Amino acid sequence: MKITFLGTGTSQGVPIIGCKCRVCDSLNPKDKRLRTSVMIELTATPSLKGEDKGRNSPLGVGGKRFVIDTGPDFRQQMLREKVDSIDAVLYTHDHRDHVAGLDDIRALNFIMKKSVNLYASEQTQQGIRSQFGYIWGNRDYPGLPEINFHTIENKRFSIEGVAFTPILVKHMHMDVFGFRIGNFTYITDANSIPEEEKKKIIGSEVLVLNALRKETHPSHFTLDEAIAQINELKPKKAYLIHMSHQIGLHEEVEENLPENIRLAYDGLHLHL
Ligand SMILES: [Zn+2]
Ligand SMILES: [Zn+2]
Ligand SMILES: [Zn+2]
Repeated sequence: MKITFLGTGTSQGVPIIGCKCRVCDSLNPKDKRLRTSVMIELTATPSLKGEDKGRNSPLGVGGKRFVIDTGPDFRQQMLREKVDSIDAVLYTHDHRDHVAGLDDIRALNFIMKKSVNLYASEQTQQGIRSQFGYIWGNRDYPGLPEINFHTIENKRFSIEGVAFTPILVKHMHMDVFGFRIGNFTYITDANSIPEEEKKKIIGSEVLVLNALRKETHPSHFTLDEAIAQINELKPKKAYLIHMSHQIGLHEEVEENLPENIRLAYDGLHLHL
């Protein structure tokens, strides 16, 4: 399994338009954060003769590629990672910074010559339908994204043979889905994890968790709160995402973190 951090920034991204703080002015590429999203690729076992005629992609025959959320930077992220196919998109919730790039699914429709499967809760689908009303409105509108929604609930489901365990976390009053795939758990936009959901995370090799900044926030974990959750859940390694410019410079923050907790950055790849 290969994980690619497509974006690791909070809703405004980093740098923020017009901001002249030292983080937004930093020349370190790790301080440049597109809106939060991740890509999960499962490479199939290569065929015996090394032939890969079934699919013109580095995944190999039977490989799968999933993306969690399509934020406003989705197009740029797909271009940067040279993506030409996706098996499914999974949505965590319908906040704009996680869905705004949905229209750019069209490029994948054209190249794959088929619709793209989207997996989301009923509540998230309703939010997306109201934000992107034209997709379900006049079908004469040229160039609509071709998508199929699949409803997920808080129980295990599989997509093309790959098992996903949803983890229902709280984003102030809002329900947000995290996902566990094998030993990899991904949680964004949470400020609390119910006790019964924590059981699903235990045993993860890698936990990705949101940490907005050092000061308190009504709907996101702070850096200290995220560290406390990680210490309780005890993954081998944890990566923080959805960071604001207020968190500080990447290098300075990392210096003060325990060895098993790192700040994720855009373009970081993990192999599990
Ligand atoms: Zn967000
Ligand atoms: Zn700034
Ligand atoms: Zn949110």
